Order: sequence, then C-alpha cells, then structure tokens
Amino acid sequence: MTLPPAQSSALGPVARAGGRDNGVRVSFEFSPPKTPQAEESLWAAIRRLEPLNPSFVSVTYGAGGSTRERTHRTVKRMLDETTLKPAAHLTCVGASREEVDEVVRDYWESGIRHIVALRGDPPGAIGGAYEPRADGYLNATELTAGILKVAPFEVSVSLYPQVHPESPGIDHDIDVLKAKVDAGATRAITQFFFDTDVFLRFMDKVRKAGVTIPISPGIMPVSNFKGLQRMAEPCGIPLPSWLGGLFDGLDDDPDTRRLIAGSVAAEMCARLAEEGFSDFHFYTLNRADLVYAICRVLGVREAPIAPKEAAA
Ligand code: FAD
Repeated sequence: MTLPPAQSSALGPVARAGGRDNGVRVSFEFSPPKTPQAEESLWAAIRRLEPLNPSFVSVTYGAGGSTRERTHRTVKRMLDETTLKPAAHLTCVGASREEVDEVVRDYWESGIRHIVALRGDPPGAIGGAYEPRADGYLNATELTAGILKVAPFEVSVSLYPQVHPESPGIDHDIDVLKAKVDAGATRAITQFFFDTDVFLRFMDKVRKAGVTIPISPGIMPVSNFKGLQRMAEPCGIPLPSWLGGLFDGLDDDPDTRRLIAGSVAAEMCARLAEEGFSDFHFYTLNRADLVYAICRVLGVREAPIAPKEAAA
C-alpha cells in the first residue's frame, strides 16, 4: 500500500511497515546443537517460531561435514515432530562424490525434499585457498547438478551481496549464481549484510543480469558486536562504523544491546519490504526472541498449528 507523501515522509520504515499483513514470507536458519542443553534451547526457539508458519526452516552443515549426523537428526526431528518444512544444508568440501551422494540419498529416504547446496569453506581458514578433491564435486554448481541427479529436490544456493572472499568481483559472483540456476537451483539466500544501500545496488545488478529466481536477503539480528566481528571478518563482510558506534560502551549492558540489535534489524527489514522484498531468511543463531519481534514488524503473524497427526 502506498501512503500519501506527507504521512510517508513523517514516519520511519518500521512505522510504515506497521505490522500489516503485506505478503511477507520468512524462513529461519538453525544450527545443529552440540549439547543436551543447546538442544533444549534450540527446540524452545523452534517451538516459538513454528506458529509464524515459515516457508521453510534450514539446518546448517558444520564445516567439512562435521555435523553430518547432527544435521540429519535435527532435520528428521523437525519432520517428525513439527509442521515445519525443513531444508538440510549440505557441503561438498573434503568429500568424494559418492560420499555426498550417499548423504543426499539418506536425506531423500528420510523425507527431506529441500537442500541448501553449498561448496563449504577450505579446512582451517575461511577465504583460504580452496583445494577441491579430485573425486569430489568442485563447487556448489556441480553439487546442485549432482543432487538433482539423485532425486528431484528443491535446491537453494548462496549469494554474496558484498562479494565472496575468493571472488574477483560482483560480476563473477553473478555469473556463478547464473550457473547454479542453470544447474537447477530455484532459490538463493544471501550472506548477511548491514549496508542496505549496497545490497539494493547489488540486487539491481542481479536482476538486470536476468536472474529471476526468488532471492531471500539473509538477516542476522545480533546483539553481540564483538561476536559479529569475529563472524564477519573471515567472510569478508564489512561492518559499517555506525553499527560499531551503536554498541560502543555497552559490553556490560546486554539488555540495551538486544534492543539495539532488534531495532537495527527491524529497520533494515522494513526498508527492504518497502523496496518490494517479500522473502526474508533469518540467521537465528538458535534464538527466537529478536527474530520473532522483527517478524511482527514485517506483519508476519501466528497461524494455528494443526496437530501433527491431523496434518499427516
Ligand atoms: P560456490 O557457489 O561454489 O562458489 C565458490 C567459488 O567457486 C566461487 O567464488 C567461484 O570462484 C567458484 N565457482 C562456483 N561455481 C562456479 C562456476 N559455475 N564457474 C566458475 N567458478 C565457479 N558453510 C558450511 O560449511 N555449512 C553451511 O551450512 C553453510 N551454510 C551457508 C548458508 C548461506 C546462505 C551462505 C551464504 C553460506 C553458507 N556457508 C555454509 C558458507 C559457504 O560454504 C562458504 O561461503 C563457501 O566458501 C562458499 O560456498 P558456496 O556454496 O557459496 O560456493
């Protein structure tokens, strides 16, 4: 809905989003838990977010396949005990094609129908030199094609608004995305970012290059700026100085940091919604509260959950 100019300019993007139902769809990313306590808090987050009826939820695959069993178990439990549509991440780094295909077959036999196909990072250092195995899939393009040879999955792939650390530039990243789409990917999820203008300019280029698949901006609501720096730096994601300034001096004040994190992410999402984006992917870090609040800003509301037996 377009507001009259006077009202539109008087309000910020969050107020203009105003919690209206505007056709926004969300998806949530989780990581497989390492301990029983982490499992409990993951499932509390899943239960809180499930009623928002996400398009899908995804579960990451630890570096070098280190969480293979835990990823599988988490996704299987989602399938068995919730109404969610889980997508399992899968990487091909450090594995042979046969090993990867076996995981893909296991996913299909367990009822999983959506894979987020990724190459994975070189062991040791993100952004370090990547050495493909001679008997392995070379990259996510080959992996996507390999997955679809096993079974007709929905395949999502990655995209980097601020350029992948190994890439020579945006045009190359867009060419890689096009190759992944040609290989059968039907959705892309972006790396997280904090500069909305840079993201919008990037998306203009992607669309002008003729890519038409749905692309979900990846949103990371984080209240721990130092932790965010540790995650962003090796991935080559620049953090704007204004963001650091907002958290300055708040190391011992987690409540204020959380309020700031929520408002930064909510403003960014509301602006993207105004710009016409309707699919949002949240890196939840296995916590629900900030994501839940931002979804409300975007107009996403609970829907009654049918009991599992009735839904089956
Ligand atoms: P690719 O898309 O394969 O690209 C990597 C490089 O390969 C490109 O820069 C390009 O140089 C080359 N390349 C690829 N295709 C072609 C082609 N057709 N022609 C020429 N060159 C090509 N990592 C994990 O370990 N586990 C996860 O669960 C995980 N989830 C992620 C989820 C999202 C949404 C994102 C954005 C990233 C995720 N990652 C994950 C990180 C990812 O594995 C790394 O960023 C990795 O370095 C690159 O993986 P990719 O699939 O983006 O690589």
